[in-house]
Amino acid sequence: MLNVIFTLDYEIHGNGEGCPHELMVEPTERLLRLFDEYGAKLTIMADIAEILKFKEFANQNGRDDYHYRDIVTQLQGAVRGGHDVQLHIHASYFNARHDGQRWVQDWSEYDFVGLSFERLDEIVRIGKTELESFLQPVNPDYRCFVFRAANWSVNPGRNVIKALLNNGIRVDTSIFKYGRRKGIVSFDYSAAESELVPWRVREDDLCSRDDRGRLWEFPIYCENRWIGAFLSPNRLYRVAQSRRHRISENPSGSAANGFPDSAKKTGLLDKLSLAAKKHAWKADFNQCTGRQLIGALRRAEQRYSNGSDNLPFVLIGHSKLFNRVNENSLRPFLEYVASHNHRFEFGTFGAFENQVGGSQSVVV
Ligand SMILES: [Zn+2]
Repeated sequence: MLNVIFTLDYEIHGNGEGCPHELMVEPTERLLRLFDEYGAKLTIMADIAEILKFKEFANQNGRDDYHYRDIVTQLQGAVRGGHDVQLHIHASYFNARHDGQRWVQDWSEYDFVGLSFERLDEIVRIGKTELESFLQPVNPDYRCFVFRAANWSVNPGRNVIKALLNNGIRVDTSIFKYGRRKGIVSFDYSAAESELVPWRVREDDLCSRDDRGRLWEFPIYCENRWIGAFLSPNRLYRVAQSRRHRISENPSGSAANGFPDSAKKTGLLDKLSLAAKKHAWKADFNQCTGRQLIGALRRAEQRYSNGSDNLPFVLIGHSKLFNRVNENSLRPFLEYVASHNHRFEFGTFGAFENQVGGSQSVVV
């Protein structure tokens, strides 16, 4: 059985522009309503660094221009309705300042994996404490135990792993096999243990498995595919949006394009090699069509149908990309999962909480 987990990165544009109501609250409201029609569950990966900035702005200015109250109300409502909220951190917002138009981030804290253990420990604690402070009153059993790093930047991650475990986080969901970046944030996940099956991570490397490890990696489902497989109306929308809200401080400009980084090359030889090479295609429910996602789910099922285990099929999305086109193209996928409930189910990480929490019993 595959457990379909939709994770939604809940944040404004990467360059600090944009209105949280327009990019987070309103699209997430539509998404929750759509999911409720099919019994699907949403896991909102809430960027707590931004949310705390919006709170600070309201407290300092006496005006809630960044919709902090609506955000908290929405997250509480989601948990009350059986959805989930877990931790996402764009550390560069903790020291951000507002220049009158947008948030100017602290670029020295942009690359998550580059921070010291002390700093990581501090910000993970702040994030987890904050989420639990307003979600436990809604559901006393609520626990923040899952994490995703900004820009998927977690490896090599000895300090990250230590900081997460130190704060009771049991699951990281930042890795996608085949993923590679080079620039202000760099990583290479081509050797990751699996594209789908969770593993206990080695103490210094989230991509590697060590059955004594206490932290689990639940990878975002990914396939190695040729560039044509990336085409969809919403992929183009994403490209246009990230051009408009480009991160000018980022010399590589690598952060927010919907296509692989290598797709920016323009020479003829580059184009030929681009067409021939394969690239990391994530199960992204905002950028892929429903038909593309059904294909991926069926391929995953074929590959892993032998085991009787309950396995997660983790998808990723971004609230700021959930437009009307996406709403219509996602329906066939939701319908497909809902109507094949003997093979698939909608879930959250909560379905695996016992499995990932019982690590103390592991024999060394
Ligand atoms: Zn993010």
